[in-house]
Amino acid sequence: MPPELQRFFSANGLLAASVRNFEPRTQQTDMAGLMARALDEKRHLVVEAGTGIGKSLAYLVPAALWCLKEKKKTVVATYTKALQEQLLKKDMPLLASALGQLGLKLNYHLLMGSENYLCLRRLEKAAKRGPELFADGSSPAQMMQQLLDWAGASETAMRNDAPFKIPEYVWEEVRRESDLCLHAKCPHRAACPYARELDKARRADILIANQHLFFSGMPLKHFDAVIFDEAHNLEEASSRFLGFSLSDTALTRTLERIFNPSTSRGLLTRLPQDNPDLREELEQAVSSALFEVDPFFSAIRRNVGMETAQQLRESAEKRVIAPCAAEDALSPKLSLTAALLGMAAEDLEDEGEAAEVNAFRFRCLEAASKIKRFLACDTSASAFWVSVTFRRRGLSTAINSAPVEVAQPLKKALFDSYGTVALTSATLAIEGSLDSYKSGIGLSNCLEAVLDSPFDYKRQAAVYISEKTADPKENPSRYEETVISEIQDIIRAVPDGGVFALFTSRALLEKTYRSLSASGPRRRLYRQGEMPPLQLLREFKKDGNAVLLGTDTFWQGVDVQGKALSCVIITRLPFMSPSDPLEEARQEHLALEGKNAFNCYSLPRAVIKFRQGFGRLIRSSQDRGAVAILDPRVRTKFYGPAFLYSIPKCGAARSMAELERFFSQGK
Ligand code: SF4
Repeated sequence: MPPELQRFFSANGLLAASVRNFEPRTQQTDMAGLMARALDEKRHLVVEAGTGIGKSLAYLVPAALWCLKEKKKTVVATYTKALQEQLLKKDMPLLASALGQLGLKLNYHLLMGSENYLCLRRLEKAAKRGPELFADGSSPAQMMQQLLDWAGASETAMRNDAPFKIPEYVWEEVRRESDLCLHAKCPHRAACPYARELDKARRADILIANQHLFFSGMPLKHFDAVIFDEAHNLEEASSRFLGFSLSDTALTRTLERIFNPSTSRGLLTRLPQDNPDLREELEQAVSSALFEVDPFFSAIRRNVGMETAQQLRESAEKRVIAPCAAEDALSPKLSLTAALLGMAAEDLEDEGEAAEVNAFRFRCLEAASKIKRFLACDTSASAFWVSVTFRRRGLSTAINSAPVEVAQPLKKALFDSYGTVALTSATLAIEGSLDSYKSGIGLSNCLEAVLDSPFDYKRQAAVYISEKTADPKENPSRYEETVISEIQDIIRAVPDGGVFALFTSRALLEKTYRSLSASGPRRRLYRQGEMPPLQLLREFKKDGNAVLLGTDTFWQGVDVQGKALSCVIITRLPFMSPSDPLEEARQEHLALEGKNAFNCYSLPRAVIKFRQGFGRLIRSSQDRGAVAILDPRVRTKFYGPAFLYSIPKCGAARSMAELERFFSQGK
């Protein structure tokens, strides 16, 4: 290891002085060495870094030294907010202080999406429109004064930092929106909160961002290396931004912001009224576009068989595989609105007003283009589907598209564009190999390593594989019954410690919740959705002996140390549903290429998710607990070993009695 890294990672090094219970770990120094080499040699790097090796510092230390020495800039992009917070509040301050001991000053900065910041120009305009803005009868003067006071005093003017709650419909009127920004021509530019943030970001050596912001378009284009942490999500995070989505609610809101016929409010009413004919034409165009939104989306739903309550209950997403026969009276109305807005913009002298009118013109054009692309349904490289969401105010329908493979676009946008792209996560490999991961994201030539967790899993963890549960595919109703019964027994076997049950189906989660509530376990029972996820986790941790039933988001990124999470129950192997539109399209695409879609796509993704679920259990060298696997396919099907060999070697609990003994011995 280079001596400059040695100074940080050795037993008496700079990190030992700042990190509580710091122990030099070969895996951590190996990873730091690889990171330094990748940066020096302009190579890409993939590292699976097992839980507990201290991967953040293993990439941050060499990245910081490289940035300071070579005057470079590195972006660190995370998937979850929790990791972003950890980097910002724990790792970066620690690193900056360690570097300070060498007389080096590290600049780092968190960059959020620009819609999180207040726009002073829009605030000024909104303040003038107070009574119109506050249609709910709340006091305009009071809210506006709060916003103005806050804008003057806040260091960031970021919505999350506001000491009062800003309703969504108010924030929509005062936040920064990139296509409404006047940039250098803005009279508020000198005091603009977002411009201030960008200045700080420009000066930063290390920028922290999230993967969504990275793929939706970083406002700063010049950086020299990118590190993706939680990189097992890269395919999903990128594919969302390589495709599109358009919902009836979002489109209605866009049109109503131009002109709302019910309230006679909107952008048009705020423009100079010196061309009444054009204004009238525009009002009519927007009104008729609005009139077409519902018939269009209803026809789309009808076309794919998502009409009746029964059909909607069966599936919230339906794939579209052929050009849609739905009549499109909507996109011509949107194009007409866009053309008229273009004419209106030409007449405007005020640059702010012209920018706003043009922004809505482009939004209408973009919506029309999405509709046309969706109806044409060119499936050669993309998947198309319709989705519905149940909201308090009714059903929302969206048309969606995503590429069937992201390898080529990612290769071009990432690996061919930056000298070093480093990808790391605790779960990237399948049975020790990174090949499947690399081919999915279009990466071929790189440095790579799979580094084991330093935890002693044989001592700290036991695996229980149920022999009582039925096969979920062969006998679904018996599977559900037996899973619920096993969960009840497992909860009894863990008398002192939290239990986490991970589901792949919301319906089974609800059924289990009802059953557990009725049988009344004498401990607190939580289920996903009853409060925001972070609050739910806080309560679960605080309780220390609770049961939490979770689905998708709880399979990853959850960090509960100690007794509060003593047992993780994996109710089913987490294969994506074959009826998931994107999953189905990707499988077909691979089959057309002559590949075995199950082996090279579905299985690896399920194994990674399984490993994520497993990884919730042991979070520190002091943790002790068990993972219970309730899907019999892990022992009966040919692919079962792919799951079992992908987790560390643990102790075994061969029966419920052994599981009980494991927990009673732990007391
Ligand atoms: S520069 Fe852009 S974001 Fe900043 S105040 Fe002006 S219009 Fe708003």
